[in-house]
Amino acid sequence: MNDMKKRIFLGLLLGSLVVIFTITIVLGLVAKYNDNFFNQLVIFFGMLAIAFLILIGFGLLCLIIAIWRAKVNSSLLNLILSAVNILFPISLSLGKILHVKQESIKKSFIAVNNELVKNQNLNFSADDLLILAPHCLQWSKCPYKITLDVNNCHRCGKCSVDFLHEIRDKYGVKFIVVSGGTLARKFVKELRPKGIVAIACEQDLTSGIQETSPLPVLGILNLRPNGPCYNTDLDRNLLEKAVVNFLYGKAEVENYVEKGQGLVQKS
Ligand code: SF4
Repeated sequence: MNDMKKRIFLGLLLGSLVVIFTITIVLGLVAKYNDNFFNQLVIFFGMLAIAFLILIGFGLLCLIIAIWRAKVNSSLLNLILSAVNILFPISLSLGKILHVKQESIKKSFIAVNNELVKNQNLNFSADDLLILAPHCLQWSKCPYKITLDVNNCHRCGKCSVDFLHEIRDKYGVKFIVVSGGTLARKFVKELRPKGIVAIACEQDLTSGIQETSPLPVLGILNLRPNGPCYNTDLDRNLLEKAVVNFLYGKAEVENYVEKGQGLVQKS
């Protein structure tokens, strides 16, 4: 299922590259058979575009290899991220034409991004890691304002904010709750984390991951049993695994969470 999720986005990225490449070649051929100055310019820029597309294509190939081998070559990371960021809006449009749900494409993008981050085998100190949670995670009737200071939470256990405090206390990471993108950007700028575990919906995670690139972000989709933006929840197991992944590397995830060293026990 998870592999299927990634394939949607990777397939659309490849499709987008093929579409742009074909358009460039067709324009070049049309220009070639109409001999005037303007067309010479089109051919010149077409050649540049093809060189650029070959580079993007190489970035895409590196992405596929990185996911397949579960290992990222750090010197190619910027090229991979550029390829993804350039082709992502085109793949959304292509998905629309092919009637692929935008939500599925974004979910797939988040899955690919997470795999890429995990495969970098990062090892941050707790102080450099930030958990960024949305305000809708807070119980709607809670009287305490936690967006300015999460410590205002009274830890009553009625919502997952309490669990996130437990995670913060156990691992020593930073934790904030934000009411929107502007506040999230402000905190990221101020706290300067080296990695982020972000909880949000498809839309917010997708834009957040792209805006903060190349900062590594592990995205956790929120659960919405009561509809969007209202008393949302999260998969605690996934959240803790993401934190452990950033702090101790991919190999330690099994030990910490699945073998009972984490707060969440394997069910
Ligand atoms: S856990 Fe904290 S934020 Fe959630 S309802 Fe209780 S006091 Fe409010």
